[in-house]
Amino acid sequence: MYHNKETKKNRAQTNIRNHQKKFKCPICSGAMSLKNESNLVCNKNHSFDLSRKGYLNLLASGSNAKYEKELFEARKQVCSFGFFDPLIQDLGERISGYSKGNLAKNGISVLDAGCGEGSHLRSLAELLEHEQCVNSTLFGVDIAKEGIKLATTGDTDIVWAVADLAKLPFQQDSFDVILNILSPANYHEFERILADDGILIKVIPGKSYLSELRSLMFEEKDYSSDRVADYFSNKFELISSQSIEYKIQLEEDILPRLLKMTPLTWSLEPEMHKEISLIELPSITVDLTILTGAKR
Ligand SMILES: [Zn+2]
Repeated sequence: MYHNKETKKNRAQTNIRNHQKKFKCPICSGAMSLKNESNLVCNKNHSFDLSRKGYLNLLASGSNAKYEKELFEARKQVCSFGFFDPLIQDLGERISGYSKGNLAKNGISVLDAGCGEGSHLRSLAELLEHEQCVNSTLFGVDIAKEGIKLATTGDTDIVWAVADLAKLPFQQDSFDVILNILSPANYHEFERILADDGILIKVIPGKSYLSELRSLMFEEKDYSSDRVADYFSNKFELISSQSIEYKIQLEEDILPRLLKMTPLTWSLEPEMHKEISLIELPSITVDLTILTGAKR
């Protein structure tokens, strides 16, 4: 276990140095390397900080991300309750399947683009660690600094960075697998940084996703992500589309956090959250679609 921040930072330095060739300067697109232990610097001397907590800030300008810390904390708690465990299990199998099918690569690199507070990637890291013959390097990026700050709390070798999905600070063909989980995509950038034989895995809500909550709030119960799926197959060659659906029994301390984390309820006044209790919402459906695609 790593208890002090300095040690955590040292570990991040090693991980970043081992993979610094993947980075490109968010300003001039030049190659980058770690200098003075605390800065990732390009040939033209554009410099980006490695924080004491061990994450890189690779934003070319400040972020106006509207996500707040409490939202990420709520999501982290919902994740550790096991809300997404079946999804993570499925993603882990996909990644190790890909790795085992590409043994010649001698290790694969995975990017979670839009990782938020990093729970999904941390769980995947644990899963993959137990898989023999899966040698993976994991990167998590999000534009929200509050998310990335929370992401660094674990004890892993994941490289974390605050970065803009519209201008990802990575060289072309840098990743074998890109994950994009319940988060907006930038297909142009994904295509650029994905290896030619790499895969993009995007997770979107299925039509029954949180349907019990929807029916409490709206008359219309179903949700359609058809347009998102169509857009995906316009941009990438669709290899597979698979649904995963399960029910989660809610508990008193998890329900308010679930209400907090889902955009569905953001329009509600906080007092209205209190009116939704376990009596109205004893369990909830998690219905997700996993789209896997390749470059055309
Ligand atoms: Zn530069």
